[in-house]
Amino acid sequence: MDHFPIFLRVEGRRIVLSGGGEAALAKLRLLLKTAGHITVFAPAPAPEIVAWAEAGKLRLVRRAMAPGDTLCAALFYAADEDDADDARTSAIARADGALVNVVDNLDDSQFITPAIVDRDPVTIAIGTEGAAPVLARAIKADLEERLPAALGPLARIGKAFRKAADALPFGRARRDFWREYYFKAGPAAITGGAPAVKTALDDLLTDHLARKARPGHVHFVGGGPGDPDLLTMKARRLLDEADVVIYDRLISQPILELARREAVMIDVGKEAFGPSTPQETINEVIVEHAKAGAQVVRLKSGDATVFGRLDEEIDALEAHGLAWSIVPGITAASAAVAEIGQSLTRRGRNSSVRLLTGHDMKGFADHDWAALARPGEVAAIYMGKKSARFIQGRLIMHGADRHTPVTVIENASRPDQRILETTLDVLPNALAAAEMSGPALTLYGLAARAAADASQQPGIAAAPPRISPEHLAQEAL
Ligand code: SAH
Repeated sequence: MDHFPIFLRVEGRRIVLSGGGEAALAKLRLLLKTAGHITVFAPAPAPEIVAWAEAGKLRLVRRAMAPGDTLCAALFYAADEDDADDARTSAIARADGALVNVVDNLDDSQFITPAIVDRDPVTIAIGTEGAAPVLARAIKADLEERLPAALGPLARIGKAFRKAADALPFGRARRDFWREYYFKAGPAAITGGAPAVKTALDDLLTDHLARKARPGHVHFVGGGPGDPDLLTMKARRLLDEADVVIYDRLISQPILELARREAVMIDVGKEAFGPSTPQETINEVIVEHAKAGAQVVRLKSGDATVFGRLDEEIDALEAHGLAWSIVPGITAASAAVAEIGQSLTRRGRNSSVRLLTGHDMKGFADHDWAALARPGEVAAIYMGKKSARFIQGRLIMHGADRHTPVTVIENASRPDQRILETTLDVLPNALAAAEMSGPALTLYGLAARAAADASQQPGIAAAPPRISPEHLAQEAL
């Protein structure tokens, strides 16, 4: 972040602008919305500027700017539409101590003006650090459409009610009250004008004051494979409402950023707790917060019900009579198979699919290898990197075809995704050569749908980086 977004208090402060043409007009339309004292220096001002000056909205000085003209100014805009003039006026402003913006000149500007969605007092500023003004405008248009026009009045009326609402206990109770006001009671009452909204606020407060504190609750939420777009809407909403988020190592940063800023974030998968936190400790942490009345999101990667040690955590909650629920997520197998354009099941090929783990708590996990070794079988193998040689050995021992396709998808759905296409006979070596350090899902019995087919179709993006078997050491067993 080269530019730090802040909201600057300009009430009663000087804002100076040099220029009298189109660039000046565009900036002034924005600046006139503020409570700042605006002075414009322009030898030949556009008629609109003259009219604004006559209406007392700004002070117009009909000459070129000179040293000392920007003394005590908070902000200065060089809108001279001439590089040399801009350089001269911005040097004066800088010497006078004002923060300088040169219109359409990012390099010489000390600050930039964002695209603004104005629902005063709710103001949304959108910036791209000058990289993509078109994108900023598109986001602005999108927000303009989505945010109700009444948001401004609702916020203004709400602001005057804040003291009264402080009668509610700090934290969740107060948040619930305001959420209901802004998204339900307020919009419903706004057609009746400010008095109707005030009555609605009074009624809502009486109702909330009478409510008992909400008991703690744990939502076991599937966080999906990493791409935040693959979260369910429910997961998003719960993250936004959670008091406490307890998350695993595989939860990606963009997903964590969706949590409320005030939420307590507890990482139970990292060094702080030791390389991996003992399950009993995790259980205790969850129970402790739920008991204290928190809305807890226990965020697990993929789907919480797949190799997630979910039952142990549920048992711990049940032992304390605490409430819980499960929100499904997209498991790694679903994400991985989507990335290679395949189906997990297919008529005439495999009518079942197994979800296996490469190792369990006791070491390498045993399975019905004979059944899996039959032609056409498909398995999604979780945590299968270390156990690749063991799995390969068992399958071949039970008669599996050595040329059975195996595809390993590392970091499925994430920007650093990689796909390794190989076969059973060289799987362990191919995996070792690929040096995968991220989470990887092994799809046994599935090859990627021909990459060429996909990339030739218009509108389909080029396939993600692939590691082809030719580049890897080949070793038959
Ligand atoms: N509950 C999770 C699985 C947890 S076990 C789920 O439903 O996906 C952890 C294993 O999941 C990893 O070792 C890896 O095999 C797999 N995994 C999780 N996220 C993955 C991803 N983005 N890409 C590939 N494999 C992933």
